[in-house]
Formats: sequence, C-alpha cells, structure tokens
Amino acid sequence: MTEAPEKLRCDACPVMCYIAPGQTGACDRYANDGGRIVRTDPVVMLSHTVEAGELVVPFAARDWPGSWDGRPVPADSFITGIGSGTTYPDYKPAPFIVSSTVAGAEMVTVVTEAIFSYCGVKVKVDTDRFLGPEGAVIRVAGEAVGHVTTAEYGSQMLSLGGVHHLTGGSKAQGRVTCATMLALCNGEAVALDIDGGSHVVVQAGLAPIVDGKHERRMRVGCGSATIGMFAVQWQGLVDEVVVVDDHITGVVSEHQAGKVLGWKPTGIRIKGHRSTPGRYFRVSEPGLGWGGTRLTDPLEILGAWNRKKGAQPGLSLLMVSTTGEDFAYYVLDETLCPVRQELPEALRNTVHLIDENCEPSLCTVLFVGGAGGSLRAGVARNPVHLTRSVQAGVTRLTSGGAETWVWPGGGITFMVDVTRLPKGSFGHVPTPAMVAPLEFTLPRHAYLAMGGHEASIRTLDETVAEGGEYPTLARITPWPAR
Ligand code: SF4
Repeated sequence: MTEAPEKLRCDACPVMCYIAPGQTGACDRYANDGGRIVRTDPVVMLSHTVEAGELVVPFAARDWPGSWDGRPVPADSFITGIGSGTTYPDYKPAPFIVSSTVAGAEMVTVVTEAIFSYCGVKVKVDTDRFLGPEGAVIRVAGEAVGHVTTAEYGSQMLSLGGVHHLTGGSKAQGRVTCATMLALCNGEAVALDIDGGSHVVVQAGLAPIVDGKHERRMRVGCGSATIGMFAVQWQGLVDEVVVVDDHITGVVSEHQAGKVLGWKPTGIRIKGHRSTPGRYFRVSEPGLGWGGTRLTDPLEILGAWNRKKGAQPGLSLLMVSTTGEDFAYYVLDETLCPVRQELPEALRNTVHLIDENCEPSLCTVLFVGGAGGSLRAGVARNPVHLTRSVQAGVTRLTSGGAETWVWPGGGITFMVDVTRLPKGSFGHVPTPAMVAPLEFTLPRHAYLAMGGHEASIRTLDETVAEGGEYPTLARITPWPAR
C-alpha cells in the first residue's frame, strides 16, 4: 500500500488552502509543484530595452524549468507587483524590495501584490443613451454588483464592487461581484443588467454595447453647446435649428449664439422646461432615441408654430441629435405643419461636421483601491509614515508600472486605468477580495527614515539571482504602449 501524497498548506492569504500535489489553490495563484508551493504566474518585469516580444527567465538560481536563452536581464528592468506574491500575514517584508540608482539618486522600490476587500471599479461609458436611473442596481447573473451613479458630461457612470457587495451580502453575491471586477480589470467584456434600464456590455478601451447596439460616438456637447459651436455654420443655410438632447435641447433662433449672429425669430414652440433663452430641459424622457431621449420622432417636442412671432410657410427647420447620427429636415407648409424633405447638400456638411467632432465612444475602467491598510507593514515598520510619504509626494505609487492617482485626505486611496497595466495583472482570492499589483518607489534615505525593511533591500541582480519567497519565473516585457 502506498501513502497518499502529502498536501501542502499555502499561507499566502487567510484562506490557507491545503493543496494536493499537481494542484493549484482556490485562487489558482499558488500550486503544489512536486512537494513545494510555487507561484504560478511569472513575476512581470518591464523594460524599455525589450522592444518586441518577451523574454522569460528563471527568476532565481533554482531548479526551475525555464526557457531562458542566457541573455542577461536588461539593466533597466522594473520589477512590478504582478506575480510578486503577497505579504500575508502582514508584518512580513514585501516580496521584493529593490534598490536602484536613478540619475545618481539611490532609490528603493517596494513591490507587492495587495489583497483588497475594500476596492471597487468605476466605469465611464461614453454614451448619451439611457442606461438606467441614477442609483439603479446593476446586476450580473441576477446578483447586485453595483449601481448607476452621477452621469458626467457625455458619459454615464457606473460604480461596481465595493466592500458591501463583496462581503456584506450572500456568498453568491460576493463571488459574482469579485468575478465581475476581476474580468473588467483584466480587460474582459462583462454584460450588466440595470434595474429599470438597459442591458449593457462594457469592456475597458472598447465601445459599449447598449441593448445589443454598438455605441459609435459620444456627443459633441449638450444641445446648447452644439448650438454655440455650429451656429455660424448654419447661418444662411436654414431658418431654424433644434439640437435634440436629453440634457439641454438647443434652439438656435432663441439661443444667445443666434442672437449675437442676428438670427430672426421663427415662432417655434418647444414642449419642455425653458431654462434660459434657447435652452430647454426635459423635452422628453431619457431613452435610447435621439440625443439620449426616448424620441424616435423629434417633431413630438414641437408645439404649434406662432405666426405672430415669425412662423410662415416655407420656413426651413433642421433637427439634429448631439452626435449628428439622427437628423431630419423640414419645411413648413401653408398650415404651418413641418413636412419632411431631403436634407440639402449644404446642410449635410454641417451635420457631418457634428459627427466629425464627436470622439469615439469608449468604456473606461478605473480600479479604485485602498492601499492604506495592513499591506503598509510590509513596506515599513511604522505604516503611517508610508501614508504621509505618499500624500507628500515623496513616495510614488504605481500599479503594475502604471501611474496612479491618489486621492487627497486620509489613507492611500488610489485609482488606476486598467488599460495601462499589462493584460491579466489582476487576481483574486476567494475571501472574496481582489489582488492588485503595487510598487512604492522612494529615495533610499526616505525609506530608511520611515522604518523600511533595510535588511530586505536587494539590488536587481541579487533579486533575480535569489528570487522571492516562492519559486517562479520572470517575464520581461516592454512597457505597455500609451
Ligand atoms: S486562496 Fe490562493 S493565496 Fe489564498 S491560501 Fe489558497 S492558494 Fe494560497
């Protein structure tokens, strides 16, 4: 009788998996490889001198099957937190603390893979189309994973994840929330269902798909701004222009831009809430139609034309959306009813100009994490000194080599554009929580002054030769293109 092979315990996170030989742990980040725990993903190093392709090296002079061709590691290599491992339990020094000399200054970079229960994803969806009411719950596979938040100019904003969705609800909700954030952060497409709204597919760096329709352009501006930008182009070509917009519908003859240009009154009447001259709110309900309204027939927003205020047979009218995708040209008949006609060639160019000035519609995904927690102990013995150093701008925080934006105020709450990191940089653990790479770079003297782990500082060559806590490979890759 042979004995069952021994399972090994991974202690890289609170889950503490027992891993059988040849198997990976619950997060797939660690495995039992022939009786030793190994990190399954390579450590990612970025180099400006690696122009194309990738270089894989055995990261440490250990017994590890690699495909290294013997070339030395480029001297400008920057070790990222991707694949570096975590510091759990947190008092341990970070996996890699690397010294370097930059323009004669001695620097230290502290590299770790941080585990985030407190984290979220903000998604900017460039569209005027109605995705759902502000505050509406966003679901994946029926589980609430976030909500619609305040719309910004030309974009709808979604807030996903966060500790309440990760750990405050059912296990299924936490699992789905984590999987949704992970997929988005790693550049994958995710289908979201919004209560009382749309089915939208979002993917970082690509156009959204709203209710099955690929969004093409984000608006050039609100209806009022569009009037301001293009009133001069329309002058002399048409008697009236209405730019239909869910936010502010613009009417050129009444708008200040029209007044300055000497535009004549047309007796038009808009059914909506008049804000200031030529600017109307609430002409319709939000929807998937013209300019983010529910309109498919823009004439619905017009009231009766007023002869006493300038309306007359033959008066021409252009109605156009804020992207130029929807447009219609009318001429008033004897009864002052708009009759649709072919758009004159001269006006076609002005509509095309709106379209040309619209930027491509994209989804932008920002990971937001709080790096002010226990991971700081892996950087320095007195963690608040790291917080102060980051806040003071002495320590630069990057994520997978990408620039981060750190919020003012307490803690180290940062945001990073996930398209700036190499693909597949994010991971997860089933607590559930996200795993994100971090690098803190600061002058060596400042690092020592904050109580940094001096005994763990190694040069790049030493780090490559000795490796980390667990055997792994290193992948040297060019910095992601901007
Ligand atoms: S979930 Fe991953 S990191 Fe955590 S103990 Fe299991 S294998 Fe290790």
